[in-house]
Amino acid sequence: MKKEFAVIGLGRFGGSICRELIREGMHVLALDLDEDKVNEYRDIASHAVIADSTDENVLRELGLRNIDHVIVAIGDNIQASMLTTLMLEEMGIKKITVKAQNDYHEKILNKIGADHIVHPERDMGKRIAHNIISNNILDYIELSDDHSVVEVIAGSKLSGQSLIELDIRAQYGCNVVAIKRGKEINVSPMATEEIVEGDILIVIGADKDISRFEKNLITED
Ligand code: ATP
Repeated sequence: MKKEFAVIGLGRFGGSICRELIREGMHVLALDLDEDKVNEYRDIASHAVIADSTDENVLRELGLRNIDHVIVAIGDNIQASMLTTLMLEEMGIKKITVKAQNDYHEKILNKIGADHIVHPERDMGKRIAHNIISNNILDYIELSDDHSVVEVIAGSKLSGQSLIELDIRAQYGCNVVAIKRGKEINVSPMATEEIVEGDILIVIGADKDISRFEKNLITED
């Protein structure tokens, strides 16, 4: 059975989630206060409705309690975002993802019980900053305040050496969890796997360890 989603707020963020879920074959109820936004999604979403998500009766009438996962993508109106999340929580929705506008908003959403809080502008800003600072870091995902996953390009320093020879886990405290070579991706590479210049390594660990690893083994002198 198709998973049922609802996206509340069809700005750039909510709209792009809606389009992508539909592209992946999901069933999506799209909801916004703004008639023009809803009209834009009439032919895209499975259903598109003009509604105010802060009205509890509306949420009930739309049958939101039967939806598997609701995404609250209301931006500027923090009060509406919080009230909507609280009501969805009280209705017993299994999974709620909410876009946070700032740290204060995020803190309250945590208290209300949102399952998953996203901060797209802040997170994308951090990813781009890491990519700008180091040409060798292709991507960066923050796991916590001090742990991340990064994608780095292997240069000449690593070329021809195996993971066991490099002893990255013992020397640097981080782990190479996958190696991308062209279109191939080797998840959980063997210790004997030899690195080739140009390989993309996916490394997980504490930021300070990843930074040491990157400085010593990736950055060219
Ligand atoms: P983005 O960056 O994703 O474009 P944003 O962060 O600027 O958006 P807004 O444009 O403020 O966010 O809000 C996103 C959408 O949420 C808007 O289309 C707005 O009409 C809708 N919205 C705001 N309040 C409600 C509400 N109570 N019920 C339904 N939709 C709402």
